[in-house]
Amino acid sequence: MLPADSPLLEGLNDRQAQAVTSQAGALLIVAGAGSGKTSVLTRRIAGLIASKTAWPSQILAITFTNKAAGEMRERVAALVGEASQGMWISTFHSACVRILRTEAERFGYTKAFTIYDSGDQRALIKRLIRDHGADRLGLTPASVSGKMSRLKNELVDVDSYRGQVRESDPNDVAFYQLWSDYQAELARSQAFDFDDLIVHTVQLFRAFPEVAAVYRRRFRHILVDEYQDTNHAQYALIRELTQAVSPEQVPESAPPHERENGLEAPALTVVGDSDQSIYAFRGADIRNIVEFERDFPGAEVILLEQNYRSKQTILDAANAVISQNFDRKAKNLFSELGAGDKIQGFTGYSQHDEAQFVADEIGKLIDEGYRYQDIAVFYRTNAQTRAMEDVFIRQALPYRIIGGTKFYERAEIKDLLAYLHAIANPADALAVRRILNTPKRGIGPATEATLVAHAEQAGITLSQALTEVDQMGLGPKVTGAISELSQLLIELRSTLDSATAAETLKAVIDRTGYRTLLERSNDPQDLARVENVDELLGVASEFSRGNQDGGLVEFLTEVSLVAAADELDDSGGTVSLMTLHTAKGLEFDAVFVTGVEEELLPHRMSANEPGGLAEERRLFYVGMTRAKNKLHLSLAMSRQTFGEAMVCAPSRFLREIPEELMQWRDSGLGDRALTAPRTSLEREPRSLPRPPREKNTQWANRIDTVVRDNSEMELAVGDRITHDDFGPGTISALTGAGPKRVAEVRFDQVGKKRLLVKIAPISLT
Ligand code: ATP
Ligand code: MG
Repeated sequence: MLPADSPLLEGLNDRQAQAVTSQAGALLIVAGAGSGKTSVLTRRIAGLIASKTAWPSQILAITFTNKAAGEMRERVAALVGEASQGMWISTFHSACVRILRTEAERFGYTKAFTIYDSGDQRALIKRLIRDHGADRLGLTPASVSGKMSRLKNELVDVDSYRGQVRESDPNDVAFYQLWSDYQAELARSQAFDFDDLIVHTVQLFRAFPEVAAVYRRRFRHILVDEYQDTNHAQYALIRELTQAVSPEQVPESAPPHERENGLEAPALTVVGDSDQSIYAFRGADIRNIVEFERDFPGAEVILLEQNYRSKQTILDAANAVISQNFDRKAKNLFSELGAGDKIQGFTGYSQHDEAQFVADEIGKLIDEGYRYQDIAVFYRTNAQTRAMEDVFIRQALPYRIIGGTKFYERAEIKDLLAYLHAIANPADALAVRRILNTPKRGIGPATEATLVAHAEQAGITLSQALTEVDQMGLGPKVTGAISELSQLLIELRSTLDSATAAETLKAVIDRTGYRTLLERSNDPQDLARVENVDELLGVASEFSRGNQDGGLVEFLTEVSLVAAADELDDSGGTVSLMTLHTAKGLEFDAVFVTGVEEELLPHRMSANEPGGLAEERRLFYVGMTRAKNKLHLSLAMSRQTFGEAMVCAPSRFLREIPEELMQWRDSGLGDRALTAPRTSLEREPRSLPRPPREKNTQWANRIDTVVRDNSEMELAVGDRITHDDFGPGTISALTGAGPKRVAEVRFDQVGKKRLLVKIAPISLT
């Protein structure tokens, strides 16, 4: 029990302190955004350790991203010091990986199993669809993986689905066949996809009660953040872990009182906000929170109402929006941080206009003393980043995309990781296939098919088949190339025990000539790829330095689990760009929510989903409530979608914000522009004015056909220049060199802007 004057309770309000010190066996903390849920959970963990209520090793805390887990671990360490070592603070997925790595052999998997990320999964499903000719039925990798995932999240496995297949529906029959082949291939490759990690852990606990008992005895305190976004499978996992242990399940080695009475159920704390449930499409189930009291009788429920994050104006706007969702408990969220500025609204002419607004406002914020890392830009769909990136690059505005097509999804990175996977887990057929002809060694699809057929006939793995290439009657050149590859894999496998992940990766890069080939290439993109290869080597070296006993398998686990939000780097000084989904749980001083338009937010797909609109509104609410000081909401009047300019209407959500909380601006196009969305809301989208041609072409030129290179241009502070769009101006500062040279220019008409000299449409005057 924590003493009332414990430093761990300092600064907390009464309800928060109650939540930190509660002794309840089941505790539910429900509260609005920014009310300190995550902070309370962190202090509660520290309190359990400090008061010796629990050893760190008896604590399992679940967060939504690896990044959040890392932060929580750091904060607990800051509160209780070294004692925090040995806690499990991780995502559901990482916790399951750890459990499965320990227990995999019980159900015939190797401990070194591979984890297929969504890209691997898509590649496999794509191939199976092609093999089955299922594309003719309209089945796509996205539809198949989506349906599979929904079923898995409901704990329906392929065998139990068999009984539900509608035989009269060819689509359903094909889906079942694909799914069944998919699971068979995963099993053959000793691989799990993300959903399987959870499903298999639940099945493990159900099939082996003695294994479940081990973890129930071990984790005496289970704490879950963002509980509103758990799906049924994750919920089932929590239920499995929070059961009492009967005397029969207690091992001989346990103390006598435990052998006699067994152990009561571990204590469970969950925190969440049903207004921030944004993963229903992935099977998240709000009912988990609503029905907590029923599922855990005697549970203590604590409500937090004070928001410590946002200015009152931001909170008022967010509250007004979310209150439009019926079927929710009204909350009374308040802030004592003062009213703050009005919310800035902006209506751009096009998405480039909108991006320009965001870039300009960021420039002003920096002048006001904000740092880049205090600023975030959110959007509903990944495709929206292109326009934003384009303007940001031109204006030398440092930014980082959190999630989206990221480092680990780049081809060269996937190639090298495939080598590592094939080395760690010889059964991983997908990995072996990927590297067969990478770098090119003259192995075509026919040879690949021969190898696969040989493996299937002989009942061996593809890796083993490589060693038998001599018997396949292939040409001498191909046979030689395959033997060489096989030899390399075998050799590197034999050094796994002694080599670090970085050493193995280095050997792969050197021995395959992968890097050298890229270096010699004339394609400028290949140079960027060399940088990526080196970057991966850097990641591996850092891992090997930081994890003395971490070998290749551990490295691959870490890499596979790097979730979208994990790339956020606070030290780098960059603006963070991310989807609204990724933004959950985070906070920034200044936030831009972009593309607040009908069809985008709410997204057009949501119209067909029951509850879809309410979920989109929650997503918008999540975005708004990330802001501490300044919130900007912007939209474009027309947007390029699939190469066509579409006319956009302002989002209905904007109408839900009280007018007096907002200040609107537009892109200054006079009477051709919409000045405020409020008037435009009354109009039919079709009647919106057409973009003026010249303006459009000008943008198109800038965005798509820039081939200029001003790197050699001699510039000095004080020089007068003219910019195609911004007109005349004076250079006020120059930084960086060569292609990274940045000029700060005071334009006579449009104020200060930063420009990347290399590509800016400027000339000296
Ligand atoms: P979300 O719903 O967005 O996940 P949350 O409820 O988890 O939010 P936190 O992130 O824990 O909220 O807290 C929001 C902010 O308020 C953080 O910056 C945190 O440090 C601060 N905070 C929380 N409680 C207090 C308090 N009692 N005094 C001062 N600041 C606090
Ligand atoms: Mg939180």
